[in-house]
Amino acid sequence: MKFFKKLLLGGACALGLLSTASLTSCSSKEADIISTCFAGYDFARAVKGENEDLSLSMLLNPGSDLHDYDPSATDIKAILNAKVFIYIGGESDAEWVESDILPKIDTEKTQVVNMFDVIGEAALYEEEDPESAEEEEHHHDEDETASGEDHDHEEEETEYDEHVWTSLSNAKVIVSAIKDAVCKADADNTDTYTANATAYINDLNEIDTNIQSTIDSSAKKMLIFADRFPLLYFMKEYGLSYDAALGGCSSSTEVSSNVIAKLKAKIEENDVNYIFTIELSTKQIAETLKSEVNNSVEILTFYTMHNVSKDDFKNGVTYVDMMEKNIEALSLALN
Ligand SMILES: [Zn+2]
Repeated sequence: MKFFKKLLLGGACALGLLSTASLTSCSSKEADIISTCFAGYDFARAVKGENEDLSLSMLLNPGSDLHDYDPSATDIKAILNAKVFIYIGGESDAEWVESDILPKIDTEKTQVVNMFDVIGEAALYEEEDPESAEEEEHHHDEDETASGEDHDHEEEETEYDEHVWTSLSNAKVIVSAIKDAVCKADADNTDTYTANATAYINDLNEIDTNIQSTIDSSAKKMLIFADRFPLLYFMKEYGLSYDAALGGCSSSTEVSSNVIAKLKAKIEENDVNYIFTIELSTKQIAETLKSEVNNSVEILTFYTMHNVSKDDFKNGVTYVDMMEKNIEALSLALN
């Protein structure tokens, strides 16, 4: 019955049959401020604060994978009607934003915040495969390009790692850009949004200091990810070294025994007691690796803010909350 109702609603929406009063039920993403991923949503929520003049939504459903997301027709319509649209500008959203949104959007009406533009090309890092993941990732690239040679060609377009928000300095710059866009969208409340952004940037500064001092006072400087690795910006910011099973946006959830063997050697060489997975992971690779090293390691979660679980979303968990959890995990893993 529920399924039928959903189908019926979806069909009616597509045909434009419903009255405006019931439109909200088929386009729950409709809002004044719309972000593709959780990080942008969180930053906009902080800027907006308690102010009810602007509504806010995240396109991604909580608990789902950013890299699997494709916009529906109602999502596109919602973005075109928004006052502020926030996206990453990288692997997971640049393509559809460039083809479905940018040619149609009225930039007088909708402020667009592209995180890549905000950070600036000079501060972007090229995608790189973690040491132990290399072979596996290269294999996937070959599948995708079908020629296998493109990988080394100079004329190949530079692919930047998209996870810019994992750097605290970048996060502060993005919050500030979102504040500017929100102020343009609702000029009457500029003072409130400016004060909110300043307060959040102060929180981010505090987190930044705490991460730095945790790392400074730790004996080890290396982390092992038995998972995807979307933390290049974070690791570079704090000078940590790392190894991982998969690249940042890899679509695979499995790795060869070769990759496991390489990570096992790293664990033994570096006296590693904790290995990481990222949020919403199946933890399959981590469990395999753990048993390969006779359960001598424990598995911790590193929150990367692509998305959050349904419960965390409902409870209003923030980027700052999750970075605090990351600090706890770091202080275990680095000592
Ligand atoms: Zn990604």
